[in-house]
Amino acid sequence: MHFITTQRLSTADETVFGILQREFTRQATHLEMIASENFTSPAVMEATGSIFTNKYAEGYPQKRYYGGCAYADEIEQLAIERLCEIFGCAYANVQPHSGSQANGAVYAALLNAGESLLGMDLQQGGHLTHGAKVSFSGKNYHAFSYGVGANGLIDYAQVMEVAKRVKPKILVCGASAYAREIDFAKFREIADAVGAILLADIAHIAGLVAADEHMSPFPYAHVVTSTTHKTLRGPRGGVIMTNDEAIAKKINAAIFPGIQGGPLLHVIAAKAVAFGEVLTPQWKAYAKQVKRNARVLSEVLLQRGFELVSGGTDNHLILVSLLGRDFSGEEASIALENAGITVNKNSVPNDTRSAKLTSGVRIGSAALTTLGMKEKEFRHIAHRIGDVLEEVHNTALHVKIKKELVALLQNFQLYGCATY
Ligand SMILES: *Cc1c(COP(=O)(O)O)cnc(C)c1O
Repeated sequence: MHFITTQRLSTADETVFGILQREFTRQATHLEMIASENFTSPAVMEATGSIFTNKYAEGYPQKRYYGGCAYADEIEQLAIERLCEIFGCAYANVQPHSGSQANGAVYAALLNAGESLLGMDLQQGGHLTHGAKVSFSGKNYHAFSYGVGANGLIDYAQVMEVAKRVKPKILVCGASAYAREIDFAKFREIADAVGAILLADIAHIAGLVAADEHMSPFPYAHVVTSTTHKTLRGPRGGVIMTNDEAIAKKINAAIFPGIQGGPLLHVIAAKAVAFGEVLTPQWKAYAKQVKRNARVLSEVLLQRGFELVSGGTDNHLILVSLLGRDFSGEEASIALENAGITVNKNSVPNDTRSAKLTSGVRIGSAALTTLGMKEKEFRHIAHRIGDVLEEVHNTALHVKIKKELVALLQNFQLYGCATY
């Protein structure tokens, strides 16, 4: 019996196909405003679903442990070259399965168990892998944290003070819920003052950095990690970059055979496609629009009396603070979902509610900007968000807003089709 047929998924497995259809409808009928999500191009998806999923290629280009790797080498080398061109660096590893794996590999390469790292506190905008207790980064290493000041901005004097006290081997900068520009030069000064290696994790802002719409971590950071699926708009995955040959060698060994097995070549092929898109002249316009749209969101919500952590935004996201309000981030995100807007609840600095409830919502502009929305649409959506947040328990209002927003979305059809 042959298991390979020419059947498409729609007839080969109706159950799975049905789930995909329902997910398509969900994506096409909700305003996607989760700050870490985006819509990849059909070309990126085609590469993700390609024949490279069949191939084992443990090792690196020209240094494989399997036969038949000629085209594996070609695709991985291309992805590396394009990534180095985007960020202006000398060495890149495109094999990390995710942003967390990328950070894990950097620590594995440069830290011994129990050695120290200093990163941004999760509650204040950092990522789990920057030393949170529940993550390998907080379990395997001695992790310390810094945060933001009363104004919601990174307090560089505090970072310096903590760094001098704890003398971390690695200083981590970069964030998951921080709406302001990160000053990599200042972080390098702090790293140098205590002899630390500076890791810049640009998972969220990579697409902006690629367009010079955010300060570059090079030449300041010794190592840079990123996801490829957030503002960079590629397939789900991670990357690691550096200009230091010795660090590059350690990182390659840490990824394979250190913490991963065979690379996901189909995803690497899709990364190459996405990097190619970032290298087009249109990318700059996209990144600029992402920032403008987030700015409009911030202006409207501030105007309507909402509080934003840090008082605004320099990038693709805003963090609305619900401290002192009689509803949580959890309730707010459910109300917004009912109104057709997908966001996530998020802790805010000095949150008084649990991580399950939180006192904030994080809202991003990257995905809707990909669909072609501009200031006009974002102004409109921002007002609807304001309406929902002013009446989080008014379900009739949410239903009405959802109808209106789904109609708006019809003009920005996902992948130009109505069904999967
Ligand atoms: C999203 C994110 C990651 C992790 O990415 P995953 O692909 O989900 O593992 C790492 N660091 C930062 C700052 C992030 O925002």
